[in-house]
Amino acid sequence: MPPQNFVILGGGISGLTAAWYLARNAPSSTKITLLEASNRFGGWIQSTRVGEEWILFEQGPRTLRPSGLGAYIILDMAAKLNLIGFIHAVGKYEPAAKNRYLYYPDRLIQLPGGSLLSGLKSIVQNKFILSSLHSVIREPFIKPLKNLDDESIHDFISRRFNSTLADTLMSALVHGIYAGDAKKLSIKSTFKQIFDMEQIYGSVIKGTINSRKLSTLSQKDQNWLNLLCEENKDLFAFMSTTSLYSFANGIEQLVHAIVNDLKVRENVTIKMSHNVKELKFDKEIEIYTNDGTFRADHIISTIPSHELACLLPELPYLTYNPSVTVAVVNIAYGRQNLLPVKGFGYLIPHITPNNPYHVLGVVFDSDAMPHQDYKKDKYTKLTVMMGGHYYNDLSGNDYPNKDELLSQAVETIEKQLGVYSTPLQCMAKVHRKCIPQYYVGHYSRMKELHYAIKKKYGKRLSVGGASYFGVSINDCVTNSARLALDLLRNNDEKVIVTGLERVEGN
Ligand SMILES: Cc1cc2nc3c(=O)[nH]c(=O)nc-3n(C[C@H](O)[C@H](O)[C@H](O)COP(=O)(O)OP(=O)(O)OC[C@H]3O[C@@H](n4cnc5c(N)ncnc54)[C@H](O)[C@@H]3O)c2cc1C
Repeated sequence: MPPQNFVILGGGISGLTAAWYLARNAPSSTKITLLEASNRFGGWIQSTRVGEEWILFEQGPRTLRPSGLGAYIILDMAAKLNLIGFIHAVGKYEPAAKNRYLYYPDRLIQLPGGSLLSGLKSIVQNKFILSSLHSVIREPFIKPLKNLDDESIHDFISRRFNSTLADTLMSALVHGIYAGDAKKLSIKSTFKQIFDMEQIYGSVIKGTINSRKLSTLSQKDQNWLNLLCEENKDLFAFMSTTSLYSFANGIEQLVHAIVNDLKVRENVTIKMSHNVKELKFDKEIEIYTNDGTFRADHIISTIPSHELACLLPELPYLTYNPSVTVAVVNIAYGRQNLLPVKGFGYLIPHITPNNPYHVLGVVFDSDAMPHQDYKKDKYTKLTVMMGGHYYNDLSGNDYPNKDELLSQAVETIEKQLGVYSTPLQCMAKVHRKCIPQYYVGHYSRMKELHYAIKKKYGKRLSVGGASYFGVSINDCVTNSARLALDLLRNNDEKVIVTGLERVEGN
């Protein structure tokens, strides 16, 4: 029989999605309680309006991708939460969709993939793109390493293509997604599809050509996707013409809508300012917080794994991966069109010289999400992201303070984009330990964790959240929704659902 009394730890998007999926699919007699330590819900998702102009600043995630199972789950949630009218989407042919840049070695380079002409121009003008092109042509003829257990992203790309591609494009991409070091992160846990292409087709290029055949979805997920498509035909048809989206008031609008929906359900209790400090697995599970004790027959933990390690120190590998700290500086200038180019923004690979402030990348928010401000076409808005793995040796008070971060960001924008103007509004924050880093071997370690949870906690504990299988919001939502449904549909006494089932494959 499925659990009757769930307690969910953590009120970020993973915990909220788990609660919402349970609430919609469990019998009304099932009790669902969500406990969040801080005084707000949403975790790293934080959309704030500032100043008299109410300019929207995203301090965490700012855009969502409308492709893949995760996207369809979120859009279906948005439809059920009456958010469709608030979706702000960027079409596939707008500059923010087409134009992405690298800053290397001392200028912006447009990446191929926009128009044919701009693609050819950037190949001809940039030696490193030309040498990467050679390596792409050679790649199908390089012998595959069959039965490879895992490898760093840098080693994999250097082996299959060349080290230039690993040091430039790939390093930049890893800065953009993980704020991490491509020499340490696992190819299998970060870019599984690319890893699988070598294993299945013997080559990434051959795998890409055959990618339509290489389904990343299990039959169960495919059926789920088909059902979502059936229910949301018009919405999904429209979204297939777009490349990015958010909501009128930022990503946090999704969080508010989920929270408001959960608040009116009789069998659901959601509590902020409830820091879970101890778990006791007795006949029932007792959950001790700073503000009271709760009871459950099943716990879903969506808090970062290093936090769960404080509660369940006997579980293996919860603290193996570090999480990086990222400084986010939002800046709005009071004039539009100040930037030399239009596009989504640029990333900076680790080999770019003269990067004293450890800038990972800059997002051109006024191009990427142009219609979220009330006075449209009045501002140039940017976000500068700094730190990540470069901050690994810092702790305590070592991080730059707000004034230092702001002047570092302004100086970067002057030097790299030639924008010399005084910001109208700005905001700077250091997000400590905000993005988990899946180091090489992560998959095997999660396998051990999966079996350890089964053995020690049986049907009473499962885990979700960014620490395990994917940091993007699409991944977090997919994993939590799938976990909730798997728990509710499990009527087999012998089957234990931990949230880490995918490691049972290869
Ligand atoms: C700067 C930045 C930019 C990003 N940009 C993007 C983007 O553009 N697109 C995208 O898809 N993704 C992006 N991401 C990634 C994405 O935002 C996160 O991976 C995702 O929000 C994580 O959600 P979560 O619920 O798993 O974890 P969290 O958001 O970390 O939530 C966990 C919650 O648990 C709570 N908690 C911790 N310990 C306890 C305890 N003991 N008791 C109770 N509660 C506890 C925390 O307070 C927190 O609210 C970005 C992340 C960052 C930091």
